[in-house]
Amino acid sequence: MDTTNFFNDPGHVIEADRAHIWHHLSQHKTYETADPRIMVEGKGLRVWDIKGKEHLDAVSGGVWTVNVGYGRERIGTAIAEAVTKMCFFGGTAGTIPGAQFAEMLVDKMPGLDRVYYANSGSEANEKAFKMVRQISHKHHGGKKYKILYRDRDYHGTTLGALSAGGQDERNAQYGPFAPGFVRVPHCLEYRAENGLTGEAYGHAAAQAIEDVILREGPDTVGALCLEPITAGGGIIVPPKGYWERVQEICEKYDILLHIDEVVCGMGRTGTWFGYQQFGIKPDIVTMAKGVASGYAAISCCVTTNAVFEQFKDDTDKLSYFRDISTFGGCTGGPAAAIENMNILVEEDLLTNSTAMGEHLMGNLAGLMDEHKWIGDIRGMGLFAGAELVTDRDTKEPVDEKYIAAIVADCMNQGVIVGGTNRSVPGYNNTILFAPSLVATKDDMNQVTEAVGNAIKRVLG
Ligand code: PMP
Repeated sequence: MDTTNFFNDPGHVIEADRAHIWHHLSQHKTYETADPRIMVEGKGLRVWDIKGKEHLDAVSGGVWTVNVGYGRERIGTAIAEAVTKMCFFGGTAGTIPGAQFAEMLVDKMPGLDRVYYANSGSEANEKAFKMVRQISHKHHGGKKYKILYRDRDYHGTTLGALSAGGQDERNAQYGPFAPGFVRVPHCLEYRAENGLTGEAYGHAAAQAIEDVILREGPDTVGALCLEPITAGGGIIVPPKGYWERVQEICEKYDILLHIDEVVCGMGRTGTWFGYQQFGIKPDIVTMAKGVASGYAAISCCVTTNAVFEQFKDDTDKLSYFRDISTFGGCTGGPAAAIENMNILVEEDLLTNSTAMGEHLMGNLAGLMDEHKWIGDIRGMGLFAGAELVTDRDTKEPVDEKYIAAIVADCMNQGVIVGGTNRSVPGYNNTILFAPSLVATKDDMNQVTEAVGNAIKRVLG
């Protein structure tokens, strides 16, 4: 096989991909009639595919990852320097980039002190679950082992993380699941079943968590794992009153609060982390995606010293955290993360996230005035969703095929938006926006104009 001209032969690349790649999240029947899409180059918010078409990417690499935008040479240089000098050392040893990024990171997270490195969001969450289980064994006779997770939240693809998965459609074909994971209700005010709104709904949604704790027995519950804003489950921003009560409940029953910042972290909502929007004091925070904006694979499970100290005990040989992530010893990840954070600071991208997020929400409100199909818009910073319904009174969700058609229509217009189109109707009839934090008003105008055109063409 001649692969010397691989890069200059788009036809060959497409056929190699079609023949050998098993794409994520894909029904491969599609590729019998359509070419797989292959991305070749990116700059800022724009990407070019192998056929030369330019796209405005409003979802940061498809899955809300490239927070600082494409084409950042300085991140590439930092990775090259780090891996050339000392590419990797795993196990019990540390590395210079690892120590440097940990110091920078906890500086942005008052109250949190310890960084455990891994590779993916799922893996970081697995680390957190294992910490909770070990604390239960060491300090509570193995009894405080249950981990509560919320309906509509997602924490990853591995079987442990999927056992904490609140999106039934993603879990349906992969059971049986790990025991000890217990679901609490969602907090989507738009679909409240109790008729409550605002703070009253927020309190009731938090109360529903306490009800589950009381039903299970507080001394059996070790942790509550929540996304600050539910991402793939439909951009669900908890209403006022929710987080204050959740924090109180965790403190009341000695339950660790684990916040999954895989999506909301690194400026996505306009603060370093989503939990900081709500004044929450978590015990464990997990993060991935935007930590190095996809330039390298890195995830972190960050804890308070109070959590960490529970594993320190040289009288008990089994009590240290007996866990490893081989590639947690790579230097490319933290080297990329250091430059990623420097860029976020130097270019003041958190402020831009807030400002452009407000502009995007304003545009979405305008679209809502024009299109009766938009039932609700939700978001914070450069993270937003528009939920589509057939009727604003009944809130009947539009069929998922229309979400797919709208996303495809935008793609034809050269704009990439997301859609929760592979999910059960009810909460996943939402168009998603999570552009890189370098977005401008013109970019956001182009995105919302394309969505408006698509809604009109698809739904009328
Ligand atoms: N948590 C959340 C909130 C996520 O959205 C995701 C991925 N979309 C994950 C965890 C899992 O991350 P990864 O795919 O890197 O394992």
